[in-house]
Amino acid sequence: MAWLCDLHTHSTFSDGTSTPRELFTQARQGGLDLIGLTDHDTTAGWEQAREAARETGVGLMVGAEVSCAWRGVTVHMLSYLHDPLAPGLPALFETIHASRRARVADMVERIGRDYPLTLADVEAQAGEGVAIGRPHIADALIAAGCFSHRNEVFATILHPASPYYVRYCAPDPREVIETITECGGVAVMAHPRPLSRQRRVVPAHVIASWRDVGLFGIEVDHPDHTREWREALGVLTARYGLHRTGSSDFHGRGKTTTLGENLTDWEVVEAIAERGRMDLVLPAT
Ligand code: AMP
Ligand code: ZN
Ligand code: FE
Ligand code: FE
Repeated sequence: MAWLCDLHTHSTFSDGTSTPRELFTQARQGGLDLIGLTDHDTTAGWEQAREAARETGVGLMVGAEVSCAWRGVTVHMLSYLHDPLAPGLPALFETIHASRRARVADMVERIGRDYPLTLADVEAQAGEGVAIGRPHIADALIAAGCFSHRNEVFATILHPASPYYVRYCAPDPREVIETITECGGVAVMAHPRPLSRQRRVVPAHVIASWRDVGLFGIEVDHPDHTREWREALGVLTARYGLHRTGSSDFHGRGKTTTLGENLTDWEVVEAIAERGRMDLVLPAT
């Protein structure tokens, strides 16, 4: 089967600029067969995505991208096909939302000394129930006329090296993988870049050790990864029996990536579907 599957996208239920319905229309126009909806720390977009999948005939893998931290290094864990009614993940999401809110308030206080920015401006960009973060700060500053694109804000005042930057507390990846698995989900580490020359990355042997608690795969093919990193990560997945996924990590106009720019093999999609508690919405052939 040569179905084209992009397993990591964001909608207006987190920090993407397209509604789930718009995402599916764009996916159909782009000739994709299936997309994974993986908003940050929420499953609130699933219902609209299911309707849109049925309307457009594009398949759906429901998911979420869970914020974690390993010894202060930010890690994103993709959870696929977990049961949204199982209590573990919703409780984690609540904790993460609260710590994200406190962190954004801190950052806004710092930024507000030099730029016309209030917490209410940022909250208005995020909307009700959204895992608030730097993208929403960027959008508020763009709305105020201080910057013209998120990339520009991320490269300057939102950069981790900026004096305005504040870290937030997030659960350990091990705990998150265990919770995802308990909720019937399948855990895939998003964009790890463990072999890059960057100072703050999770070492390969640590990622490999997460397999013991249920890590299923690694998102090797991601817009942030160079060809060299993909090769190295490919070796890592093969050596440790992890599965390889690929995605665009689409954020609409918020990032320069295009829907479907990296894909996941159908065999891997099927393997996730076999393990996950929720069903795939299959593409209408
Ligand atoms: P935060 O989680 O609040 O620290 O913000 C980081 C998030 O911003 C990541 O999940 C990125 O996917 C997202 N993001 C959205 N647009 C951009 C952009 N233009 N540049 C960098 N990150 C972005
Ligand atoms: Zn994001
Ligand atoms: Fe991410
Ligand atoms: Fe993402």
